[in-house]
Amino acid sequence: MPSDARMLIAIRVVVVTTLLLAALIIQYTVRELLPINYLYTTAAITYGLTLVYIGVGYAASRKINLIIQVAGDLVVETVLVYFTGGLDSPFSFLYLVSIITASMLLYRRGGILSASGAVILYGVLGDLMLYGVLPLPEQSWFIPTPWTSSRLYLNMATNFAGFYATALLTSYLSEKLQKTSEELDANRQNLAELRALNQNVVESIPSGLITLSPDGVATFINPAGCLLLRREAHAIIGRPIAQLGFYAEGEWDEFRHTLTGGSVIRREKHDVAIGDELRTIGFAVTPLNTIEGAASGYTLIFQDLTDMKTLEAELRLKDRMAAVGELSAGIAHEIRNPLAAIAGSVQVLKKSTALNPQEQRLMSIILKESERLNKSIADFLRFVKPQEKRPAEFDIAASLAETLDLLRNSPELTATHTIEDEIVPPSYTIVGDSDQIRQVFWNIARNAVQAMPNGGTLRVTTAPAADHYNITFSDNGRGMNDADQRRLFQPFRTNFPTGTGLGMAISYRIVQEHGGRIEVVSHENAGTSITVSLPSSAATMRNAVA
Ligand code: ADP
Ligand code: MG
Repeated sequence: MPSDARMLIAIRVVVVTTLLLAALIIQYTVRELLPINYLYTTAAITYGLTLVYIGVGYAASRKINLIIQVAGDLVVETVLVYFTGGLDSPFSFLYLVSIITASMLLYRRGGILSASGAVILYGVLGDLMLYGVLPLPEQSWFIPTPWTSSRLYLNMATNFAGFYATALLTSYLSEKLQKTSEELDANRQNLAELRALNQNVVESIPSGLITLSPDGVATFINPAGCLLLRREAHAIIGRPIAQLGFYAEGEWDEFRHTLTGGSVIRREKHDVAIGDELRTIGFAVTPLNTIEGAASGYTLIFQDLTDMKTLEAELRLKDRMAAVGELSAGIAHEIRNPLAAIAGSVQVLKKSTALNPQEQRLMSIILKESERLNKSIADFLRFVKPQEKRPAEFDIAASLAETLDLLRNSPELTATHTIEDEIVPPSYTIVGDSDQIRQVFWNIARNAVQAMPNGGTLRVTTAPAADHYNITFSDNGRGMNDADQRRLFQPFRTNFPTGTGLGMAISYRIVQEHGGRIEVVSHENAGTSITVSLPSSAATMRNAVA
């Protein structure tokens, strides 16, 4: 049963019961037979009807339910009005109660219908009584005033106007209330959805988001922001944003100036201290406005760009090396052929007996230098056009140990040099071209020795990871400045007296083709640490070659 129909039944029962009890109490205290039997009659009718309403309540719709109840009430009210004197009855106001109920629950149509019902019932009752069709009730308390038709019609007219006015006014208000509450519900729903969306967006974007008060104090940070900054939200909220290291103290005023001009600020900041690392952070600051357009602070969106920057630098290097490689391979070939001719001719001339020792020496220099040049070109061509790889399983730990032994016995190593190694495990199999990998080890280790002209220690350690094998070469030689470090893998950049500047370029290429990486950490006059990381799986190698 609809709740308002049930409520109506309950209220009616309570009212009727109260009335009944009051009548009983009066009757027993006054101990005088009052002419209020009609009250018992109406109470009995109402109780009877209540049972009907409950029955109907489970069978019919809300509307039918309410209509039947209001109609029943109107009939009972008419009976009451009849018993209490018709036009003289003080109970005709009860019609208004029913009309108000109908208007409130069934709106305008219900109001008009109930008012019309009341008009018909009341009108017919009045007419029937006036023309004597219905006798005046015997037990009337009320001394009836003489009934005239003009009095009847005046009375009816005022009552009817009252009924309709009440119906229209109440239903109007009730409809309005209904509409407002529907709108409110819709708005509340919208607001809830909006808030949920907002929450979702803010919580789930991968970028950091901080909102700032107009004077640059953090008022909110999203979870991604906390993760990126490696700090808890409470350590950020309430702090001036300058303390986060995104910009220097004075910059904020400049920012604010730009922002009030309506522009957005986008910056990249290097070396922002996060945890115990220095990272590159990209951020954008935009003014935050209220719906009315008033400035209420700023939003700061940021991202950690460090990894992206590293990747970018790697790609740029790869690109440049490809370009340099192609261009110079052509030139190298052009040099090689005349060089062979020159060397050949000098070889023949050198055999001639007509040369004095001085001339013989010069010829030897030409031969030695052209041999060196030829070797450089051969190295270079190997770099641009790497030989066919023969990937196979091999013991990378053993290869490393052998290469270091070779270096220990090379003439470049003096008594002031020490090579320490800690190769664990002593045997580790990966897939790759063992000759080329040896070449990489040789190039890097030899550089380390060359970087320590006054002696020092080269320390080689290994670290097998889940699917990688990492080898680190650390020396305490002269190190590199930032510029040298950036150019380390570029061909023909050399600072060593007998260098060609190709060793690292070739190594880079080989490692790249094996699907690995080289990482460099170097400090000028302190030393260099180079880590080669090679994947142990065959799949990577095949992909890298393809
Ligand atoms: P080359 O050895 O023929 O000069 P490389 O490509 O092997 O060419 O090295 C390029 C340059 O990088 C070297 O000339 C040197 O300036 C620098 N370099 C390489 N390794 C080291 C190191 N361990 N310490 C300092 N500088 C280094
Ligand atoms: Mg070298």
